[in-house]
Amino acid sequence: MNILVLNSGSSSIKYNLWEMDEKKLLCKGLIEKIGKDDSSITFSVNNEKKTIKKKILNYIEGIQFILDLITDKENGVLASIKEINAVGHRIVHGGEKITEAKLVTPEIKEIIEENISLAPLHNPHNLEGIKVIEKALPGVPNVAVFDTAFHSTMPPASYVYSLPYEFYEKHKIRRYGFHGTSHKYVSLRAAELLNVKHGEFNCITGHFGNGCSITAIKNGVSVDTTMGFTPLEGLPMGTRAGNIDPSIVLYMIQELGYTPEQVSDIINKKSGFLGVSGISSDMREIREAYKNGDEKAALALKMFVHSSKKFIGAMASELDGRLDAIIFTGGIAENSALTREMFCQGLSVLGAYIDADKNNAMQGEGIISRDDSPVKIMVVPTNEELMIALETQNLAGE
Ligand code: ADP
Repeated sequence: MNILVLNSGSSSIKYNLWEMDEKKLLCKGLIEKIGKDDSSITFSVNNEKKTIKKKILNYIEGIQFILDLITDKENGVLASIKEINAVGHRIVHGGEKITEAKLVTPEIKEIIEENISLAPLHNPHNLEGIKVIEKALPGVPNVAVFDTAFHSTMPPASYVYSLPYEFYEKHKIRRYGFHGTSHKYVSLRAAELLNVKHGEFNCITGHFGNGCSITAIKNGVSVDTTMGFTPLEGLPMGTRAGNIDPSIVLYMIQELGYTPEQVSDIINKKSGFLGVSGISSDMREIREAYKNGDEKAALALKMFVHSSKKFIGAMASELDGRLDAIIFTGGIAENSALTREMFCQGLSVLGAYIDADKNNAMQGEGIISRDDSPVKIMVVPTNEELMIALETQNLAGE
């Protein structure tokens, strides 16, 4: 079975093509700057990366280009688009009604549309991706895989904010959580590596990429997560502030004279590692500056580690006294032994003891805690695209 996975963003489309019998990635690519003069497509086939500059006006052109490329004589991997058996779409927001991946039907498209107000930068494009594929590949099943779905198991005490209750009831203001596909994938993979049943697995997953979130997983389901009504809540991130006293927002508007749009721009795009360090949102550059003695870079890094440990400690208290593993994923954790070591300092209080040699030697996935550590510490590179392909196979497989 061949499954195309699409992640349609505001000006980009990422794609992966998977052969599911062997779980083999046949090809992948990214179209950027859709609608702009300098749009381009970067793709890799057989580990070779190529870029084609081409003006791509809209999603219809973009997706058609991807389909042409997949079946292209020189760069293609399939003889015909008829060999695509199903398409999995990443959808950011499923709201309260969606608790799992779904085969796309008119009702599911309505739900994606209903939730546009909760994810205005993502859901409209995600939906457009589905509509374009329905026309381009008629009869091929589409599956919607939602970032929020994995967190639908959270209890009300985790998801209701302590505001007047009507804000939840009438306006659906609540914690939804994001990165669900990643938290689900790494917890499933970690359970597999440890040879334990996912349905009995208690763990904390930390996704540290450009966006960062931590999730508490009890008996295989999400019971709490740091991102909230939007992805802004929780940890400091590349450019997002994470948790701040909400009064600061009011003070900026009422006392300092910023407009709501300016404040939104500050807390979403100018804060986090970038805001504190004044250097970059990219953790590699922060680490480099920290090593060269830059004090603000050191502060940004320490704030991040401090916040991460605080949340790991809080999440541990939600697992009824049994924490099996702490799992790190995302570019910051997957690629840097130093940051993993910093995250783990002090976690011995939870029974998690890092092994310096294993941590330094870690490439890919595995355990980095001491053999006698009651709580395993693990690194599992995330693979949201494979998770979407697996969910799609599950729903659309013959
Ligand atoms: P996304 O969330 O967009 O998928 P990634 O998971 O690729 O992002 O993570 C991006 C982050 O990972 C960036 O902050 C980047 O600096 C960081 N990163 C990548 N490589 C390293 C490294 N070797 N050391 C520290 N951080 C790294």
